[in-house]
Amino acid sequence: MTALQIEQVPVLSDNYVYLIHDPETGCCACVDPAVSVPVNARLDQLGWRLTHILNTHHHNDHIGGNLELKQAYDCEIIGAENDAARIAGIDSKVRDGQTFKFGSKTCKVFEVPGHTSGHIAYWFAEDKALFCGDTLFALGCGRLFEGSPAQMWDSLSKLMALPDDTRVFCAHEYTQANAAFAITVDPDNAALQSRMTEIETLRSQGKPTVPSTLLQEKQTNPFLRPEETGVQKAVGLVGEDAVRVFAEVRRLKDNF
Ligand code: ZN
Ligand code: FE
Repeated sequence: MTALQIEQVPVLSDNYVYLIHDPETGCCACVDPAVSVPVNARLDQLGWRLTHILNTHHHNDHIGGNLELKQAYDCEIIGAENDAARIAGIDSKVRDGQTFKFGSKTCKVFEVPGHTSGHIAYWFAEDKALFCGDTLFALGCGRLFEGSPAQMWDSLSKLMALPDDTRVFCAHEYTQANAAFAITVDPDNAALQSRMTEIETLRSQGKPTVPSTLLQEKQTNPFLRPEETGVQKAVGLVGEDAVRVFAEVRRLKDNF
């Protein structure tokens, strides 16, 4: 099995667009094209021909380049059936648990509502790659624009059930700001402290902090740790259930 090639394209102020290329078949997908121009330029540079667009949700910084890329490449746009009306140019509508063929690979879809009601994530099991849009970030999670804390916790729990060595390709470079908050609600977490040092170093060299691994997130991301006593203590909710603690961590971050 040949591994998928994954390219990270930084666009706008802090978005990451991803290009996924299957060398066996030449299939090439773009995840969440916020804009088309830099995506086109990178495709030209790599000599890859776009065959698919995978959208995680309807926000413009995730679908803004859909129609221009479709016009240029006649590619197939895949998005959530639940949110089809808000995904520009959608061709194929997918649901929770559904799998589809991408070249020689299989991709599985998870519905992960919370940030938006129709948010989905794409998982390439053989390549240990998860494209989770604005649901799970390095040391953070998406704001709850269209969902309840219970829904988001349920969504994050689905992602946490994937293998620890899954690479988490999120859609924004928010890690440094997330870290500054994380340490306030998980102050005694040694793994978080050392990850913060690594993040500082990477950013000072202009390097991305994404992807991380799911294991790293489980160990250091406070939004995945509402069951940990350290986090419960820091937010004053020792012994409370995960949803209640998660909701409080999210509320504190919104006001940070
Ligand atoms: Zn968004
Ligand atoms: Fe976004």
